[in-house]
Amino acid sequence: MRGFVVHLVAAARPNLMKVAPLWWALKDQPWCRPRLVHTGQHRDAAMAGAIMAELGLPAPHVALGIAAGTHGETIGRTIEAYDRLLAADPPDLAVVVGDVHASLAAAIAARHRGIPLAHLEAGLRCFDRSMPEETNRLLIDHAADILWTTDAVADANLRREGIDPVRIERVGDVTIDTLEMMRGAIAAHPGPAGLGLVPHRYGVVTLHRPANVDRADTLAPLLAALADIARDLPLVFPVHPRTARRMAETGLALPPGVHGLPPLGYVAFLALVARSAVVITDSGGVQQEASHLGIACVTLRPATERPDTVTRGTNRLADAATLAAAVHAPRPAHPPHHDGQARLRVAAAIRRLAGAVSVPAGRAAVRAPRSAS
Ligand code: UDP
Repeated sequence: MRGFVVHLVAAARPNLMKVAPLWWALKDQPWCRPRLVHTGQHRDAAMAGAIMAELGLPAPHVALGIAAGTHGETIGRTIEAYDRLLAADPPDLAVVVGDVHASLAAAIAARHRGIPLAHLEAGLRCFDRSMPEETNRLLIDHAADILWTTDAVADANLRREGIDPVRIERVGDVTIDTLEMMRGAIAAHPGPAGLGLVPHRYGVVTLHRPANVDRADTLAPLLAALADIARDLPLVFPVHPRTARRMAETGLALPPGVHGLPPLGYVAFLALVARSAVVITDSGGVQQEASHLGIACVTLRPATERPDTVTRGTNRLADAATLAAAVHAPRPAHPPHHDGQARLRVAAAIRRLAGAVSVPAGRAAVRAPRSAS
């Protein structure tokens, strides 16, 4: 039997945490043939291969090999390469996750080939149209046939944009599935002890958004604000390759008290986050993970596509001028918002699409990778 062929399209690091739970949920289903399509937007070991291995993902069934370039290069070349694959060997469903340039490219290619297209993590909006990811989210959502959302705010965003509600299904947040599946490995990792840091007496920093790191006149005040905080609280900063490149180009360096590291593996990074006092970030995924772990988060952006992290009180928005006050602000404790079972709902939705007998989401047989128990 051929099985229902599903492309899981991954491009950059944050996509891996979103396709992994789908892979776990689908790989042993007799009715389904999931295929990992890696576009190549992130391709070095630290940003791709090592994390794929940790998360129990297979080597990509198809590697399009399109390295990150300008937005025009990444989007254009990925459309061309994915379109060629779709023409030669069309799947029954293409699943695009997240909001990076190659995700948009894959969505456009699938749309134009008439391949049914699902967007996982649909409906996220920060309403800041200057953020490249916001443009990508909008366009992917409006290209998709099926929109899997994380929460009611995302559903409302899509309805307001005129998307037919029958195409929207709230499945929850798959990145929390990944976090929960990997909790054992995260707890077993030495985390701060391996770096000589005292648990709950340090902060974790990640920065890579173009609006923060691309220009010296925005990056320098942020580094100065981190230097102030680091006088009282040591900071550890796994530096994203984009940020490292910009720092090298602009001659800026990390200040004393801010310990730079290369990008970390998923488990090593979350082992640091889980035992930190605060996370300072401009990442989408890290806001969500810190909030789920009950760790205070400060987001260095004017707006967030995850407003529930702010309304629930775990996350605060800040800039260089307000960072110190936000770091020291008290946070309410709160129960976790997501149940870590989103992949089961996605698998059930795909099974319905495949025309197989409909099963309740909670009864789909799903296994975690060996390392994730
Ligand atoms: N992450 C990681 N290693 C690091 C920093 C982050 O594995 O050194 C993980 C993090 O836990 C989250 C994801 O990478 O799951 C977020 O990726 P990124 O910040 O690059 O993208 P964004 O979420 O902003 O799109």
